[in-house]
Amino acid sequence: MLGEEDVVAVGGVDRQTVRSAAIEAVRAASLLCRDVRVSLIPSDAMAKADRSPVTVADLGSQALISLALHDDFPGDAIVGEEDASLLRTDPEGPIAAAVLRHVRAVRPEATAETVAEALARCSHPGGPAGRFWTLDPVDGTKGFLRGGQYAVALALIEDGEPVLGLLGCPNLPVDPAHPGAGIGCMFVAERGAGAVMISLDGYADDGGEGHGNVTTERPIRVCAPASPAEARWAESVEAGHSDQGDAARVAQLLGLGLEPLRMDSQAKYVAVARGEAAIYLRLPTSDTYRERIWDHAAGWLIVREAGGEVTDIHGQPFDFGTGRGLERNQGVVASAGGTLHAEVLRAVARALNA
Ligand code: AMP
Ligand code: MG
Repeated sequence: MLGEEDVVAVGGVDRQTVRSAAIEAVRAASLLCRDVRVSLIPSDAMAKADRSPVTVADLGSQALISLALHDDFPGDAIVGEEDASLLRTDPEGPIAAAVLRHVRAVRPEATAETVAEALARCSHPGGPAGRFWTLDPVDGTKGFLRGGQYAVALALIEDGEPVLGLLGCPNLPVDPAHPGAGIGCMFVAERGAGAVMISLDGYADDGGEGHGNVTTERPIRVCAPASPAEARWAESVEAGHSDQGDAARVAQLLGLGLEPLRMDSQAKYVAVARGEAAIYLRLPTSDTYRERIWDHAAGWLIVREAGGEVTDIHGQPFDFGTGRGLERNQGVVASAGGTLHAEVLRAVARALNA
């Protein structure tokens, strides 16, 4: 029997309604990103103050999701990666115009001001208590720009723990064994209810006819390798985001026979959750960098609900209640779980202390 907390979310909205609304928001944002990507021009991207890139897709995706959540759950706070500064400092620039055009394709009533307000609303500081959403509107912007993987990442956090996690992956094959059979999928996990894959726009769930039931959900599970030597492992494409030399040492210690699967974004968590890889290593490139909660909350829940394990490199559980950053954690080790996780952690400790 369902307990009351299974049926009623905070604010009296049932979980099914919250889940459906979040799926539709992530779907719309994922399709916006794909639209921007197919006709990408140089003026669609620029560098932020920290020199990381931001594009029309990052701002458009965050605006769409913020507008949708505000309509459906007006009291909910959002911890989002982007803000309104670019649109407010250059309201006549090409990025502002393109963001408004893409958002209006979905929400014709949007104005420059409602879009800027929607972006600015995502500045919540996070923290240990209560309920808030965390959003990375384009995780893996560098992958997005080079035609690789990227993800729209949204999670609902209650009292420091993700309870709902969604990844929209517009450029990810629906079936990794048949990469040509359909591109674009979403992943949804709910605490205690498992993880599923949903086709982004239906064409892969009906044998490629293009008229599939877009709501078809397929459960996903991790896949433990017969031995560590057979484990496929994933890491970032960007050497600045994860130490690839340390990871190669871990792979050597474990006797991993296969080359790393290098992917941008939280698609790496998906690779573990659906059995494409058994290990995801994210090894710090500096002592001072703190991971951002929006880079991990959705992927963390998807792997755990698919039967896998996620900790930091010291084996500590993630604490999503420490603000916008994971202040008490360093790096990531995700795995298919079981004894493999402890084996990987031991190898990481040896490699990093060597
Ligand atoms: P990935 O696509 O896995 O390489 O990760 C992309 C994310 O890495 C971005 O969203 C950034 O927030 C994050 N990032 C930026 N600098 C670092 C760093 N020094 N170490 C780890 N992650 C970083
Ligand atoms: Mg990111």
